[in-house]
Amino acid sequence: MDIAALRAGTPGCAHRAHLNNAGAGLLSRRTLETVTAHLELEARIGGYEAATERIDAIEAVPAAIAELIGGRAGEVALFDNATHAWQAACYAIPFRPGDRILTGHAEYGSNMLAYLHLARRTGAEVVVVPDDEHGRLDTTALEELIDERVRLVGVTHVPTGGGLVNPVAAIGRITRRAGVPFLLDATQSVGQFPVDVDEIGCDMLAATGRKFLRGPRGTGFLWVRTEALERLEPHVSEVSAGVWDDKDGFLWQTGSRRFTTFEMNYAAVLGLGSAVRQALELGPAVTGERTLALGAALRERLDALPGVTTYDLGRERCAIVTARVAGVPSAEVKDALARHGINASLTSPDQARTEGRDVHPLVRLSPHYYNTEEELDRAADVLAGAARAAQPR
Ligand SMILES: *Cc1c(COP(=O)(O)O)cnc(C)c1O
Repeated sequence: MDIAALRAGTPGCAHRAHLNNAGAGLLSRRTLETVTAHLELEARIGGYEAATERIDAIEAVPAAIAELIGGRAGEVALFDNATHAWQAACYAIPFRPGDRILTGHAEYGSNMLAYLHLARRTGAEVVVVPDDEHGRLDTTALEELIDERVRLVGVTHVPTGGGLVNPVAAIGRITRRAGVPFLLDATQSVGQFPVDVDEIGCDMLAATGRKFLRGPRGTGFLWVRTEALERLEPHVSEVSAGVWDDKDGFLWQTGSRRFTTFEMNYAAVLGLGSAVRQALELGPAVTGERTLALGAALRERLDALPGVTTYDLGRERCAIVTARVAGVPSAEVKDALARHGINASLTSPDQARTEGRDVHPLVRLSPHYYNTEEELDRAADVLAGAARAAQPR
């Protein structure tokens, strides 16, 4: 990888040390120009007319996503974020009283709230699978909990608030053997390192465009394995999702189109397509190796600092690094980083509620392949300075 060229093609690199890729990755210039060109085309010739003119590029976007994650084009539906994509799958599962939803402590807070909502509505029950000694979902415990009541296993691959990577391929082997649907929240993993739906063995996968994939904000997608479609009943029907039928009233569209609605932000869709194509060209194995190495290097630097503690669970850990400076509120550390031109973020107790750890908010630093060791040094220096200033004299 030519890091200098990639940075030159990423306008944000000239202005900030962007260590908030778990929040939103920086757009490449190519993606930015794709988005603005389409907005300008819409303004010049009309929104519908612009979509018609760019129809080939628009229709290529689900295919590019499928190529990235190992599915088929017809299995991908586009959304305005990962939450809606994930919900389209989860709310399509016909839960009945007594059914069980198995999930883990790292589950995204919004997903957990949806499980609780579904439980309240349908009489299903939510069961949180215990962690193993590394803080990952314990696959032995999962296997023991699988029985005829289990209607869904829902797992977050990488949580929003830490470096944990859940053992998703081992989970997939268990769900496949049991014939239980497996819904994977891959929002923080797609774009960060290689994610392949067949290697994992999940049936449904939701992700966002804006994080490690570097797509525009307001984009997301759902992938559903063709074989899993028949077990799902989408919770919304409209003219893109359904087709009129004289006998049955309506039928579902073929493939994952049945989860979509008519209107889309096509500038953002095309921007997502540009970002996915760039990820494919660079190669997820190549970019992932560098991204994970930068994450490990940053964690190592922070762990070496007196008064700084990292909090990332797991055995294999990713490029999301969470830390606290003793005696300094995390929000102040984030502000100090911002004063030095470094973008970071805070973890949210609401999104990490299911973890059961009383450690949030933490400072979250999430490098991507276009970051440099020098930027990591600068961030570590700010945390070191904050720790020194907080020490009693
Ligand atoms: C950000 C995030 C989401 C939600 O993605 P949106 O695009 O904001 O809806 C879901 N799961 C995880 C793990 C996330 O980090």
